[in-house]
Amino acid sequence: MCTRISPESQGMAVKKLEKRLFGTNGVRGIVGKDMTPDLVLSIGLALGSMRKGRIAVGRDSRTSGESLANAVKAGLMAAGCDVVDCGMLPTPALQYLVMHHFDGGAMITASHNPPEYNGVKIIEPDGTEMGDEQTLLLEERIFSRNFDVKSWEQVGSGTTATQLVNDYTDAIIRSVPENIGRNMSVVVDPGCGAASVTTPKILTGLGCRVFSINAQVDGHFPGRLPEPSLDGLKGLADLVRSTGSAFGVAHDGDADRAVFVDENGRFIEENQEFALVADHICRKHPGVVVTPVSSSLLVETIVKKHGGSVVYTPVGSIYVARTMRDLLEKGETVVFGGEGNGGLIFPDHQFCRDGGMTATVMVAILAGSDLPLSTLIDQLPVFHMIKEKIRIAHPEHLIELLAESCKAYHIDRTDGLRITKGDAWALVRPSGTEPLVRVMVESAVPDSARKFFQELMDYISPVLKHE
Ligand code: MG
Repeated sequence: MCTRISPESQGMAVKKLEKRLFGTNGVRGIVGKDMTPDLVLSIGLALGSMRKGRIAVGRDSRTSGESLANAVKAGLMAAGCDVVDCGMLPTPALQYLVMHHFDGGAMITASHNPPEYNGVKIIEPDGTEMGDEQTLLLEERIFSRNFDVKSWEQVGSGTTATQLVNDYTDAIIRSVPENIGRNMSVVVDPGCGAASVTTPKILTGLGCRVFSINAQVDGHFPGRLPEPSLDGLKGLADLVRSTGSAFGVAHDGDADRAVFVDENGRFIEENQEFALVADHICRKHPGVVVTPVSSSLLVETIVKKHGGSVVYTPVGSIYVARTMRDLLEKGETVVFGGEGNGGLIFPDHQFCRDGGMTATVMVAILAGSDLPLSTLIDQLPVFHMIKEKIRIAHPEHLIELLAESCKAYHIDRTDGLRITKGDAWALVRPSGTEPLVRVMVESAVPDSARKFFQELMDYISPVLKHE
């Protein structure tokens, strides 16, 4: 049986803190309803009151991006910050630029949400997203309107530097051997999002022959929704087949995530993508891989095969990124991290999910292999996962009841309840935004997964009847 190490058991307190406005990935809402210029101006004023110096602002391709970017810039400048507008670019590109050139950043994005949404992500000077404790201070300033508004001689300046995005694309191209993608055809589907301006350029820079679909910037997202889910990727799959390409890559709206189809146009499940990349990295450099408790055991199985180990965190890329950085500071060899949703973090590059970098690593994997992507995926061990969403008014009662019912099994409370029973494990986790719990059960043995899922449902069903 595999031992699961959580940051807590290593003496690291990575705990989620409840926030009023910001979620796991910044603040988001429907434009004109809950996401208004007033709110974004307040965020700019609050951030400018907390962080001084040069602040970078960027946005994804949404129709409301320019308006909201101007609102956050106005707040930052009024609070005395010098603002540099980096224009439209992926979130990881802005994070990279902040890490190298700025004292902080604000990204106007709603990531994978539909076109009517937008939001703000705050970037710290080291390029990571703002953590819970600082975000709570930021929220406190917004709600109490505690802003450090400057007088005329201290107001900040505003400039534009849209060419800076080239630093990011150049760094990714330089991270692998020159022309590593020669003789390889690939297809890119940025979904009309921010990666339209970066990923085709990166892959061309690697020497690949690049085809693209939905690669024109358009905030109406006419080709597909910003979430790169299976149903939206038929065009990508068709183009991969008709061009004889080695793979197809698709991004979400702000391109911190990348998902793939193989040379036959078959969608690669994101945990398999994660495991394939972990295999590539740990084969050469076995070390610590960091991932949330929701990731498939497939990842741990691959990492351990090469002599590495896995550290688990609460669900959310910020917890993964910060745990990676903290472990490195403690002298651990952290080689890779990420989530089972196509959001992968390469610590030699930066501490955030990066879709452009992920596409580049896929080119490197295939350039170093005689086998096509479909075969590499088929060679991975198979795990069976069952997922269910349960609507319930008081998820916390259900969690406690399950903890009691399953006390004979191994329970980890890094995020929700992670229960290990023999060769199966389950994660039962309340949603952060809706009155529901998510249940996932997984095992290499299909029958073990089914039986454990049924056992959990037998505990859960009577509670639902009394709701
Ligand atoms: Mg995203």
